[in-house]
This record gives sequence, structure tokens and C-alpha cells, in this order.
Amino acid sequence: MSNQTILEVENLTVNFDVSSEGDMPWTKAKKLQAVNDISFSLSAGETLGVVGESGCGKSTLARAIVKMVPAESGKVVWLGNDLLGLSHSEARQYRKQIQMIFQDPLASLNPRMNIGEIIAEPLRTHYPKTPESDVKARVRDVMHKVGLLDNLVNRYPHEFSGGQCQRIGIARALILKPKLIICDEPVSALDVSIQAQVVNLLMDLQEEMDLALIFIAHDLSVVKHISTKIMVLYLGNMVELANSNDIYQSPSHPYTQALISAVPIPDPNVEKNKELILIEGDLPSPINPPSGCVFRTRCQKAQDICSQQKPEYKEVATSHSVACHFND
Ligand code: SF4
Repeated sequence: MSNQTILEVENLTVNFDVSSEGDMPWTKAKKLQAVNDISFSLSAGETLGVVGESGCGKSTLARAIVKMVPAESGKVVWLGNDLLGLSHSEARQYRKQIQMIFQDPLASLNPRMNIGEIIAEPLRTHYPKTPESDVKARVRDVMHKVGLLDNLVNRYPHEFSGGQCQRIGIARALILKPKLIICDEPVSALDVSIQAQVVNLLMDLQEEMDLALIFIAHDLSVVKHISTKIMVLYLGNMVELANSNDIYQSPSHPYTQALISAVPIPDPNVEKNKELILIEGDLPSPINPPSGCVFRTRCQKAQDICSQQKPEYKEVATSHSVACHFND
């Protein structure tokens, strides 16, 4: 691992304008706060796990980093260049260094193309003058890297299992030799045994290629083995960010503590006796978030101040930051 900082996200905020059925043309659109004031950095070879329940802004954060959705404010600094300040054509040269893989592996592959064409497509798009023999050699190389036999190159996506489709998606992401892969819930649609294979494959590739990863999941057990640090999101807000060990050994935010309590423990005796912290109620609407602390409507530790003041995001230990009034 080279430890070079490759990505710095500073105060990134993404809002969407939403209108309701029955709104008149002159009715002012409401703001949906999808991602609110998020900052973090990532070094080569590191994995940031991003965790939170559905609707917490994980995928929007990923898409804002690669300019697939527009940010309201903030910076995304990639190798010293603020991508958000560049036009799409200017950002394109950096975009090829950042690739994405998606949740539904089959739906993310074009059913009319064979897998050789699917994997080669980014290379042909970004480097159209690459000789065909080199394209074929690169396709074979990345297929080997992800454990696919190159005699499968003329097959179509529907002929593969979910796990194999995700390997094809990873091969397609690798063909441009990226420095960062953003994995948007890449194993959520897969069986548990296949999930482990895909996570192990990503870890092997990361070591071999000094790749950085942003690995998005909705529960902490999935990101446990792959992440060097973990960000916990709630309603578009970062509530805790720490090294992976610190999150699991000493979670500070009540939401993180509840998520950790739900992670299964392999020892049946410990699992049987552990305290499960329930999060009651539904996720509030991001169009009308709670005043003060966004988690207060579901927090067992909430007090009066929690509805009156938004907690500052503070460092409680080295590289361990939390947004809660009671974590000094
Ligand atoms: S600030 Fe209050 S409501 Fe928010 S997490 Fe801390 S104790 Fe709970």
C-alpha cells in the first residue's frame, strides 16, 4: 500500500428538487436532502466501507463522487483536481481512473453484447485506437484475474449465474486499470456463500493492483472483512467514521451501536447472550428531516438538547469522529 491520498471529499452536499402529485406549476419544489456535508479521504490500497439502511444516501454519495448526480456544494478532489469544478469532458480523463460496480450484476450488463464485448467496451470507448489484438489480450487478462475462463468470451450475460455476472462486472471495471473502484452494494443480490467469494476476489485484486475501494453495504457484517475504515450514514448524514477495528470494538454513536449489535457472532454461546439494540420506528423523510440530531426520533438516548441543536461532528479518538452530543 503506497499511502498516497488519492481522493478527498470535502463537505459534499447533494439535494434533489421533488414535487408531489397535485402540485401546481407555480408551487415551489421541496428539497430532498440526500447527502449532507460529508467529508472523508481515501488512500491508495485502502477500503472505505459505507454503511446505512436504505435511503440513507449511500448510492447518491457514490454517484456524486463520479458526477453521475450533480452536487449542490462541496469538493471531490481526485489526485489534486477538483472534479466538481471540471466540465464533463474535462473530468472524463480522471473518470477512467474511477470505476463502479453495481448491485444487480445481470441488470448492469447489456444483454445484447457478449461478455468479451461488455468487458472491452470501456477500453474501446476511452482508447479507440487500441489494436484489436491488444483489446483481446486485455480482455483475456482481466477475465483470468477475476477467475473466468477465456473460452466463455462469446457467451451472453443470461448464460451466467449472479456471482459470475458480478465477476464480469469487476473485469469490465478492471480493464482500464483504475485506481479506485466504487462498489455499490455489489453483493446484496447474491447468496451468502457467493458474497464471500466476491468479497475475497475484491480483496485479492486490491492487494495485487494497489486498488482503493469504496464498498457500500446496508449492514456492517458484509463490510467487516474488507474495510480498513468505515463510515456510518443516517438520513444523508455521516454519524460516525473510524478505522474498522474501532467501529467494531468501540462504536460510539447510538445508531452504530445498534447496527453492531445486529452483526452475528460466530460463537453460538456469545451470540445467544449478546444484547440486541433495536432501532424502533421508520426512517424519517429526507424532505422533512428531524430538527437537531437527525437520529433523535429513533434514539434511545435522546434528550431535550437533541431536538434543539444539531450535534457537531467531533473527533473522540485518533481518526475516530462521531456526531452525538454525548460523546465528548
Ligand atoms: S445527539 Fe442525541 S439523539 Fe443524536 S445520537 Fe446522540 S443522544 Fe441520540
